[in-house]
Amino acid sequence: MTDIPLVDLHAAHAEIAAEVREGFDRVLASGAYIKGPDVTAFEQEYAEFSGVRHAIGTANGTDALELALRALDLPGGGGVVLPANTFVATAEAVVRAGLRPVLVDVDEDHLLMDPERVADVVDDAVALMPVHLNGQLAPMAELLRAAGGRPVIEDGAQSQGARQDGRVSGSWGRISATSFYPGKNLGAYGDAGAVVTDDAELATAVRLIGDHGSGRKYVHERFGFNSRMDTLQAVVLRAKLRRLPGWNEARRAAAERYDKLLAGLEGITTPRVLPGNEHVWHLYAVRVERGRDAVLAALHAAGIGAGVHYPVPVHLQPAFRGLGHGEGAFPATERAAAEILTLPLFPQITEGQQTRVAETLTAALKANG
Ligand SMILES: *Cc1c(COP(=O)(O)O)cnc(C)c1O
Repeated sequence: MTDIPLVDLHAAHAEIAAEVREGFDRVLASGAYIKGPDVTAFEQEYAEFSGVRHAIGTANGTDALELALRALDLPGGGGVVLPANTFVATAEAVVRAGLRPVLVDVDEDHLLMDPERVADVVDDAVALMPVHLNGQLAPMAELLRAAGGRPVIEDGAQSQGARQDGRVSGSWGRISATSFYPGKNLGAYGDAGAVVTDDAELATAVRLIGDHGSGRKYVHERFGFNSRMDTLQAVVLRAKLRRLPGWNEARRAAAERYDKLLAGLEGITTPRVLPGNEHVWHLYAVRVERGRDAVLAALHAAGIGAGVHYPVPVHLQPAFRGLGHGEGAFPATERAAAEILTLPLFPQITEGQQTRVAETLTAALKANG
């Protein structure tokens, strides 16, 4: 039997191969490899997709988060509230921007930033950075209320095209960031990212900071660094963006199929969707009550590329020991880290593949007792 990958990037490439080849030929003939007309066109298309006026291409998603924070000119060392249950990049960006991560626990049900926990720490913060984990938006209306006027920056790395109460990811915060890492719902063929905002001044600041502080050749208006989008990546992203609404729809259909295949299975919980959310299923993560690692090993042995996102929370990572949180600091996050199991899901996954995943998972749970 052939293996079932966690994400099948070949299947996505097959759909856009001709367009990418033609675009690459055009860029190679031009000899210009950074920014240029393809990046500008992608920025316009992605801004429109995100329901905002401005999008700025960056070298990757972590830089995009850092650039969004830097553009806001927040007081140095100020606290930025973010969920403990996220990829480490969210916290890295805060530190790199000269700010201080203020971690909070997530809601036990959907594992998103909990507005009540935000209320506990917000007095000590200058901004909020919710993460739309796995492809659904954190509860934005409540979080904006809890922010009390402080800027909210969405980490939309996993949520391109997701909506809440009809409003799309990236359009809720004053300024937001996303990642086009190859495995994301909208993935480049290398590293890339973007900042999106409705605010023209912030957009200009992001462009300057991400291009050596320069808007005009040889004039460096402010301190910056280098984080620009490659032209070849823009070619790939333009081709994929056109297909993204359909691909997200296919992900939703696949998630529904898993929900049905796994309904009533003892020992696991299927993922919860927050009311009002249109999920884009970057990851389909179930929770395994007991023996998650044995179940994961059984899936791997059967050639199924299941994963864990994320096995060690930010506050227990050696690099973030300095924040001073030990084990037990964020119980919902820590329970999730021990129980979650991500199943293969991508737009082109077949019913046959999903059935085999469900059957293997069922057998592994039984063997687990
Ligand atoms: C992928 C990801 C990032 C970082 O993106 P890169 O492009 O890899 O730098 C940030 N936050 C979250 C939640 C992510 O999943």
